[in-house]
Amino acid sequence: MTGADFDAREVHLDTGATVPYDVLVLAPGASTAFYGVEGAFEYAFPIKNVPDAIALRGHVLGQFEAVARDPERIDDGALTTVVVGGGPTGVEMAGALRELFHVLAEDFPTVDVARARVVLVDGLRQPLAGYDADLRQYTREALEKKGAELCLGQNVARVDARGVELADGSRVEAATVVWAAGVQANPLADALGLEQTRGGRVVVDPTLRVPGRDRVFVVGDAAGAADPEGELYPQVAQVAIQQGRHAARLIERMASGEAADEPFRYHDLGMMATIGRNAAVLQTPGGLKLTGFLAWMGWLLVHLVKLVGFRNRISVFVNWLYNYVTYDRGPRIILTTDRGERVRQPLLATAPTEPAGAGGSYDPRLDGATGPAGDASGPADGAPEAETPEPAPSHP
Ligand SMILES: Cc1cc2nc3c(=O)[nH]c(=O)nc-3n(C[C@H](O)[C@H](O)[C@H](O)COP(=O)(O)OP(=O)(O)OC[C@H]3O[C@@H](n4cnc5c(N)ncnc54)[C@H](O)[C@@H]3O)c2cc1C
Repeated sequence: MTGADFDAREVHLDTGATVPYDVLVLAPGASTAFYGVEGAFEYAFPIKNVPDAIALRGHVLGQFEAVARDPERIDDGALTTVVVGGGPTGVEMAGALRELFHVLAEDFPTVDVARARVVLVDGLRQPLAGYDADLRQYTREALEKKGAELCLGQNVARVDARGVELADGSRVEAATVVWAAGVQANPLADALGLEQTRGGRVVVDPTLRVPGRDRVFVVGDAAGAADPEGELYPQVAQVAIQQGRHAARLIERMASGEAADEPFRYHDLGMMATIGRNAAVLQTPGGLKLTGFLAWMGWLLVHLVKLVGFRNRISVFVNWLYNYVTYDRGPRIILTTDRGERVRQPLLATAPTEPAGAGGSYDPRLDGATGPAGDASGPADGAPEAETPEPAPSHP
């Protein structure tokens, strides 16, 4: 979809076709926010969709192959990955990469895999903003125990083909930079000329409709829906699912001529993030907090139950069990994809945003985009205080 005529009630597709509608539900999600950091769009791997993941996986495996041919490339950072952003996505990525290295040690017996590094960089002093302090401390320790290096209280100022430059001028030479620092508006909101709020999310009324457009709903990451206190809901799957159901209920009522003005209310089921094998954190609104194996089992169970279809659940469960026992991760086949714009944005390209701070460094807390924000432990030394921090996307 590339546009819409709300008065004529039709949407426009990139094929040139026009599709009429009775009710329109917009759920285009969000896109990666690069915060205007120099070189991030060009050189860092976003991790927003399956093509992104395939491109990253192929690149990492390619680096191991390159080192197998020429071991000296390790000195140039061929086996170093910098993960930018210490939110759930960055933490999960750092943990998963450390575990992948164990597996690759068998595949590449001539490569000194002990020298493979994962460096997690975040401007805040602890990972997982939004979680309670003890869970954040646990996360930090669990990552370090798995061999990840944490570079906290430091923003990335520049990304280039050879690594990253940090705000204090120091460098990490790395052939792989993963951008997990946050999300921003889907460009569709701009194309549709819809009013936007923080992070470029579309302004909606409490029923999730575009104000003045009774037949247009916006749900999920793209929706700027707020709780009764005025806080925007986090950009996580549970919010998107519950909003989708809410819009569907209202549409049913509209179809049967009933009143359809019930406001959306989010039922917070809690949040969890996995740090890798046997390590995760889980926190519920009722005060339950788990770490370690129990939290990890909780994470697996929730993700298993949420899969569509009994057959899928069984097959994933058997795969997980097999992987757990054997440490196997399936065939390491490199699929070539261009890591340029084509893999980054579906259908509409997103231009990188302007730099959020002086000197090319970024601080998501100064930006409308959602990133690793709201840190209870305060900003990095020398970093400005945020006035209205955006809640971090905590994965339920
Ligand atoms: C790496 C990663 C890990 C995550 N892990 C978790 C987790 O563990 N738990 C959790 O709760 N949340 C997680 N999230 C967040 C979660 O994925 C989102 O909150 C959720 O997917 C939002 O749902 P949505 O339907 O709004 O958007 P999406 O799921 O992003 O779906 C939007 C869809 O719209 C399509 N689209 C976009 N533009 C157009 C257009 N112009 N025309 C047609 N189609 C279009 C896209 O291709 C996409 O298929 C994660 C996010 C990322 C990036």
